[in-house]
Amino acid sequence: MNEIEYKIYIDDVIRRVESARLKVSSYHIVKIVAVSKYSTSDEIVKLYNIGQRAFGENKVQDLKAKATELEELPLEWHFIGNLQKNKINNLLDINPTLFHALDSLELARELQKKLKAKDMILDTLLQINSAKEESKHGFMPEVALEIYKQILQECPNINLKGVMSIGAHSDDKNIIKKSFETTYNIYKELPNATVCSMGMSGDFELAIECGSNMVRLGSIMFNK
Ligand SMILES: *Cc1c(COP(=O)(O)O)cnc(C)c1O
Repeated sequence: MNEIEYKIYIDDVIRRVESARLKVSSYHIVKIVAVSKYSTSDEIVKLYNIGQRAFGENKVQDLKAKATELEELPLEWHFIGNLQKNKINNLLDINPTLFHALDSLELARELQKKLKAKDMILDTLLQINSAKEESKHGFMPEVALEIYKQILQECPNINLKGVMSIGAHSDDKNIIKKSFETTYNIYKELPNATVCSMGMSGDFELAIECGSNMVRLGSIMFNK
């Protein structure tokens, strides 16, 4: 695809996000984070050139490499993957816009310690395992609200801004929908939360209709 074709292609993706959000309300604004984990820096630049600013990676080393290579561009970097404790300092060196996947109390405590030592604040989302899948990270829905409040109390350098979920792994739309609703219902109960990050290339319209205001789109944004 040349640049014009790519722009037309992306306009269509944006139109789909638009029509899903308008089903919720004209005031419901949805942000697109372009997940570049399967894409090169050159491909990121192509998307930047047609207007995209927020990008996400799921590995600290990839985030570091791409953020460094593209540091001249005014990009916003999101870290959407699981964070190992021994990678915390590497992540903080990049100072990402938002960390989407806080998934244990142990990690929260370690993150708090390192943030305090560096005198930094990190905007963060609590990951919720809304479909209770063995293969996924995150807190169980039953404990999420309690844990969220506990982290707010215990970890002043972690600025919790909401929740993140990956939709249920299923072909049944109702099961996926239920998983998004579970996360949205928790989101609504949270004190001062502003971000509900859910929806990927295969299910973003459903996620938005269930209340998501941040979608993480990988393959569809890079036409893979
Ligand atoms: C890879 C990934 C995405 C994007 O996936 P696509 O299906 O390519 O849109 C979103 N969120 C997380 C956490 C991911 O790891």
